[in-house]
Formats: sequence, structure tokens, C-alpha cells
Amino acid sequence: MKIVMIAGDGIGPEISVATKEVLEAANKIFKLNLTIEDEIAGHESLKKYGSTVTAELLKKVNAADGLILGPMSTYDFKDESKGEINPSKFFRKSLDLYANIRPAKTYPGLKSPVHDFDLVVVRENTEGFYADRNMEEGNGEILVTPDVAISLRRITRQCCERIARSAFELARSRKKHVTIVHKANVLKIADGMFIKICHDVAKEFPEVKVDDFIVDAMAAHLVRAPQNFDVIVTTNMFGDILSDLTAELSGSLGLAASVNAGLNHAMAQAAHGSAPDIAGKNIANPFSLILSTALLLEWHSHRSNKPEFALAAKSIMLAAEQAILAQNVTADIGGNLGTTQVGSALAKRLYSIEILD
Ligand code: NAD
Repeated sequence: MKIVMIAGDGIGPEISVATKEVLEAANKIFKLNLTIEDEIAGHESLKKYGSTVTAELLKKVNAADGLILGPMSTYDFKDESKGEINPSKFFRKSLDLYANIRPAKTYPGLKSPVHDFDLVVVRENTEGFYADRNMEEGNGEILVTPDVAISLRRITRQCCERIARSAFELARSRKKHVTIVHKANVLKIADGMFIKICHDVAKEFPEVKVDDFIVDAMAAHLVRAPQNFDVIVTTNMFGDILSDLTAELSGSLGLAASVNAGLNHAMAQAAHGSAPDIAGKNIANPFSLILSTALLLEWHSHRSNKPEFALAAKSIMLAAEQAILAQNVTADIGGNLGTTQVGSALAKRLYSIEILD
């Protein structure tokens, strides 16, 4: 498996070093025959090449089996004509990574303000309320007068269908329950279409229970009783927001893992941003990117029918659970280790993990 790894901005380089150490250990233990190629994007690329991402980089990623993208300081990138392109959008759109899979759960030994839960947010990734990706040409935000701005939200049948199918397929291998989250009370046409298509797709999965909630109420239900949910399917921005909530409910945004998957490509990416407030301090939690990388290995296992990758993924997840229980973790989840120490300790722990199937 050939992986392109991009460290990213802010805390990206720190959490990437820790992730690489774990990945290299997994490579040795499970004989994955990995090649890891380091590349740059974001501020480093802007400085060097005049653009946060380049066509050359996309070529390399296209030729690889997977990408690990560190967090990007997207808010800094305001003008595409100056090379300030949002790298997340760039890869999600260019590689058609339409399903953003964001699991969140509570861990033994880690205090959470809510009841124990284990759920996955399945977020549409290629359209919705994201002005930089919902137009064929141009941008979905318009300044009508200096005092009037319009942002457009695009919802299409094709994107609704494929994200719904991803969610129901995932639910089939879990607790067989899909919750559709929408705002069809206000966005009657667009979210009306989303919810109808999700219910239509549900008919292909009679073994999966389905229900639906309006997004604002869903935020309350997630805090009140997250244990009632299994797979949550929703549009782009709602998924982005709710998954930060579920990550924090699990203990920390530093646990927010995600994989962006399409038919032929996948990208591991922590759900959080570049966290400039803690960058360079060696205190960022690397589990978000490490667990995202495990999700990428799992994706590759299914795609290429290579069970050793699924075993490596499962072992990394189990090692992380054990590390949390032993408090070999960063301060955000109750430990006193630095980012790089957490990576080294986890890599070491991986050698002693036994998976009993
Ligand atoms: P953020 O997600 O970077 O940080 C929010 C809070 O969570 C901060 O207090 C931060 O310190 C904390 N946090 C985040 N990751 C952590 C980790 N691994 N360990 C411990 N604590 C962690 O959100 P923000 O500050 O609003 O955004 C910063 C930048 O990141 C902005 O430029 C934004 O556009 C960008 N961003 C990028 C992505 C991405 O690359 N996928 C996602 C979200 C935000």
C-alpha cells in the first residue's frame, strides 16, 4: 500500500510525527509492505510553490492507495486566485471522496459528561452548504452589495443517494439503526429531497431500523441520550458540526477521527482543525490522526481484500483504548504525556496487542 502523508499546518507536524511512528510499527508487525511518501500542502506549499496544493501533488495522490492529510489552517486561505485553496475541499472534490465517516464513542477509563455511546456520523462531503465546492465553476457565495451577502447550498439526488447507501451499508455491520438528520421544516425543498431519498434507500435495507430528527433537536438528543444512536446520516455542514459535538462528548476533539472515502480513493483526516492555540507546544492529542489512519487501513483492507490491514487497524484501535485506560495520553484526556511521547508509547504497545477474534 502506497500512502502519501501531508503533515499540515498548526499542530499537524506534531500529530503527524506521532502517527507515522505508529504506522511504521504497524507496518513491521503486520507486514503491510507500506510505502510512505511525505508531501506538503497548506502554508508550507503556499510559501514554496505559491499555492496550498498543486496539480503535481494531486497526481501523486491519485497514483497512491491512500492519503493522510494533516489539519489545515483553512481560515487563512481566503483567495483561490492567490493560490489559497482549501486543501480539504481540493482532495474531497478532486478524488470524489463523498463519504466522510466520523466515528465517536466513549472509552473505559475516560470520563464523559454523557451516557456511554458508540456511533458514527456519516456526512456528505462534496456539496451542501460549502460554497467552495458546490458549483461547477465559480463559488457559491455572492456579495450582492457591500451590505448583502448570499451563500448557496446545493443538494443533488446523486449525492443524497450515495451517502444514504454508505450509511445503510455501514449500519448493516453495526447495530442496524440509521438516523436521518435534516432541516426539512425550513429547507423544505432541498432537505425534503434529502430525507425522501434516504427513506427510499432505506427500503433496500429492511433489516435496518430508520428514524429521522431535525438537526437542532438532534444536537439536544445527542447530549441527552447519545446511546440511542448508531449511524447518523446527514448533509455536509450539519455533519461537520454534529461530529465535533460527538467527538467532544466522547472526551475530546483530540479523539475526532475520520476517513473521507470514495469509490477509488480514501483520505485519513482528523475531524478537527490546525488548533493554532496549542501548536508547537507538544500537547496536541495525536489519537485523532492515528485513529483516522486506522480507518484508512480498514478501508484499504475491504477494497483490496487484504485482512492484515483490517487486523492492523483493529490493533491500533485496541492499543488506543488500552492507552486511554492506562492514562498514557495527552492532557486533554487526563494524561500527562506529550504528543510525541503518546505516539512512541502507542507504537510500543502495538507490539504486545493480541486480537482475539
Ligand atoms: P480547531 O478544531 O483547530 O480547534 C478547536 C479547539 O479544539 C481548540 O481549543 C483546539 O486547541 C482544540 N483541539 C483541536 N485539535 C486538538 C487535538 N488534537 N488535541 C487537543 N486539542 C485539540 O478549530 P479552530 O480553532 O476553529 O480552527 C483552527 C483552524 O483550523 C482554522 O483555520 C480552521 O479553518 C481550520 N480547520 C481545518 C480543518 C481541517 O483541516 N480538516 C477542520 C476544522 C478547522
